Amino acid sequence: MDAARARFFWQGIGKKKKYHMIRWEALSTPKEFGGLGFLDTRAMNTALLAKWLFGIECGESSMCINLLRTKYLGQCSLFQKEPKSCSFFWTGLNKVRDWYNYGRGVQLGNGKSTRFWADVWLREESDVVTWKLENSGKYSARSLYRFIVNPGCVDLRMVDVWNTRVPMKIQIFLWMVWHDRVQTTVQLKKRKWAGQIHCKLCGEMEDLDHLFFKCPVALFVWCWVRDSLGWSCIPASLGDFQDDFLGGHGDKDNRLTIFLFAGVSWALWRTRNDWVFDDLLVKHPNQIVHRAFGFLQYWCRLSTKGARTKTEELLTKLHAELTKL
Ligand SMILES: [Zn+2]
Repeated sequence: MDAARARFFWQGIGKKKKYHMIRWEALSTPKEFGGLGFLDTRAMNTALLAKWLFGIECGESSMCINLLRTKYLGQCSLFQKEPKSCSFFWTGLNKVRDWYNYGRGVQLGNGKSTRFWADVWLREESDVVTWKLENSGKYSARSLYRFIVNPGCVDLRMVDVWNTRVPMKIQIFLWMVWHDRVQTTVQLKKRKWAGQIHCKLCGEMEDLDHLFFKCPVALFVWCWVRDSLGWSCIPASLGDFQDDFLGGHGDKDNRLTIFLFAGVSWALWRTRNDWVFDDLLVKHPNQIVHRAFGFLQYWCRLSTKGARTKTEELLTKLHAELTKL
């Protein structure tokens, strides 16, 4: 099923789908951890099964849980009992025990149980099992799922990207830009692509920074942005754009700047693909500027009420300069 999802994803974006630029792990990693946030069904399954384990340990009493407890555990706790392979369901539960253990915490019940730490039976009676992956101490499938797919730290720059009000397809495109997964010829070459490595527009090596910042057509578009917004310079690379044009992570203005970048980079990317794959070449770089503006104007309707005015102001400035070209 997951393979089918990955395939679907690939058929849904771009024109030439010969090369997988994203590993499945990256697709299923939650967005705030720098992934694309698609559901990993195996991890979700584990997280849902672990809910039963928590229920059993917490003394929850539903018919199913009572049955499982009586049939398989008796007086023992979940971690004392050796797994039996007599029930398909129980075998499944035991398989997820290790994952479950990462979030499982034990709160000591009373003084007696600490004194008799070694007394397993007493512990069983008085200790409370809690869930460490949630502040509430209550089990949630979501928290274990996230832990399984990525126990790492939050990717704040991507949070800014996901908060930018552009269509999801464009958010994914931005994610690919930030992770250098866009299929530039330099990237394709790494995958033994037979074509030539140079930019079809200017003949330079085509890597990500070339395509979106250094290529003469990209320069032309960025100069339009610079003149519209009164910038003193234009970004020379993605790193430069991040350092000098975006604020700290979560900065309010970042959304608008990323919104702008989305329009520019998407227009450049589409123009480049028309030329590389369909031999359609723009007659003048002006056309790319018009294209970028068109995208931004179209996406403007997605902006939140609060951000609408600022987005419209940006468009007005860009449009004023556009008419001078
Ligand atoms: Zn070029």
